[in-house]
Amino acid sequence: MVKRVVVVGGGSAGFLAAITIKARAPSLAVTVIRSKEIGIIGVGEGSTAFLPAHLHGYLGIDFREFYRLADPLWKLGIKFVWGKRPFFHYSFENQFEAPRQGLSKNAAYYFPRDGELAHTGAGASLMTLGKAFLRRTNNTPVITRALAYHLENEKFVTFLETYATRLGVEIVDDTIVEVQQDESGVTGLRLAGGTTRSGELYIDCSGFQSLLMGKALAEPYVSFKSSLFCDRAVVGGWQRGDEPVLPYTTAETMESGWCWQIEHEQRINRGYVYSSSFISDEEAEREFRRKNPKVGPTRIVRFASGRHARSWVKNVVAIGNASGFVEPLESTSLAFICTETVWLIEALVDADLQLRPSVAGLFNKRVAKAWDVIRQFLALHYKFNDRLDTPFWRECREKTDLCGAAEFVEYYKENGPSLLWYKTLLSTDDQFQMEGYLAMMVGQRVPYRGEFMPTEAERRAFEWHQRSFEAQARAGYNVRDALAVVRSPQFQWPTDLFPRVCPSAPPAPFTV
Ligand SMILES: Cc1cc2nc3c(=O)[nH]c(=O)nc-3n(C[C@H](O)[C@H](O)[C@H](O)COP(=O)(O)OP(=O)(O)OC[C@H]3O[C@@H](n4cnc5c(N)ncnc54)[C@H](O)[C@@H]3O)c2cc1C
Repeated sequence: MVKRVVVVGGGSAGFLAAITIKARAPSLAVTVIRSKEIGIIGVGEGSTAFLPAHLHGYLGIDFREFYRLADPLWKLGIKFVWGKRPFFHYSFENQFEAPRQGLSKNAAYYFPRDGELAHTGAGASLMTLGKAFLRRTNNTPVITRALAYHLENEKFVTFLETYATRLGVEIVDDTIVEVQQDESGVTGLRLAGGTTRSGELYIDCSGFQSLLMGKALAEPYVSFKSSLFCDRAVVGGWQRGDEPVLPYTTAETMESGWCWQIEHEQRINRGYVYSSSFISDEEAEREFRRKNPKVGPTRIVRFASGRHARSWVKNVVAIGNASGFVEPLESTSLAFICTETVWLIEALVDADLQLRPSVAGLFNKRVAKAWDVIRQFLALHYKFNDRLDTPFWRECREKTDLCGAAEFVEYYKENGPSLLWYKTLLSTDDQFQMEGYLAMMVGQRVPYRGEFMPTEAERRAFEWHQRSFEAQARAGYNVRDALAVVRSPQFQWPTDLFPRVCPSAPPAPFTV
């Protein structure tokens, strides 16, 4: 029976895991061991909409306190400077799947084949106009679940550390120098300071080092190299000047990869993700600086896209970069840390805190599938991006292995953006769902057979919807004005935005 949980690592994975476990099962003694000498990775700043739901719903973290201490900014989606269109938006608000009044098919059928997709949904319109929220007639912002966060990695981890301490998580600052094990798994961790710490369950959140899962248990790593060719990023940024604060992440095509732009209140962070087989670090740095002349000091981060074959082996569960990493496009890691930890703690609570091999087997199956689904979705971004004709992008178009997305692509090419076989084509754990897949196919103008011809009345209805989205968004709040509103003492955060699960509420039945 698990009584003591030892979390290795105090990055965002370590603290998110520790908090989630402690909040859901307060009887467990949870210890985080982290090495200040080694430090944290310092990247990982965009999220998906699942992160706010986890923080404020599952964990019940107070909005006001979180905004005061962690300084999040809103992310409504990703603006892709990708493919032949000037740009398109993948917003968290339903856009491509949506049924709309006056249209016989879902909205994606009516999107123009060429040009930008500026006002094709409420979220897209807000993004195009640089607005964060629509405005109600009583002048309050319309805050929905269709938003994610931009967070400065170190500030976020500091917030999580404070929160963990308050929940009663023990934090040990020391470096693990030896992992002791027998046939049942890990038995203890010897620290540089001379002590040994042990528990019944170990959570490996040691980042790319993967100290327990990779190094001690030697669990094989499944590479995603045949789908995702990038393996490095040059990372930098600058203090914000008079640039407007944008409510989205930008993903921009570069010669041998792509570049993110993440917005913080005082800072703009950029990173060029590239393939070292096509460009050297020095050339990547030069291209990065040429396109971003304000960038200050930079550093290179190396990574290998892939996952461990199993994430739960004996009494060790790997979470975060120690479990796997599928490159930063779509910013999935922070949210997946939360998802994986919820799957784990709900499984443990359900099994009365016993470690059961059958449960570990199912957990592994589900986690592996979830990683593979992220891989297949990202593969679409590389396979169909025809914006640049460079050796890197030619190779991507020719050789990207679509893996699990191949059937969907074949279906799309024959049938267009139809939703009919959606549940058969995609896994229930596919976080992107049809909306995400259609965003990438329609956004990148992947052709399909049998062009749909809307009637004149439908054409007018679609135009009307676009004008209406634009007019509503124009009246909305920009990021700075919205920040002033939510920071004012009178502002009341909605209490019913996310369903609450723990810690203060008695655990409601929760479906994993
Ligand atoms: C280029 C790049 C961009 C990324 N962008 C995003 C993004 O936009 N959004 C997103 O969600 N994710 C992103 N990620 C992933 C991101 O890194 C993770 O989401 C997140 O930061 C989790 O990191 P971690 O906690 O697993 O690892 P780390 O932050 O590396 O933490 C590891 C911890 O383990 C400790 N440790 C290691 N060895 C020892 C030891 N021997 N003894 C004691 N302690 C030890 C370290 O001190 C540290 O505390 C990106 C990753 C890369 C490479």
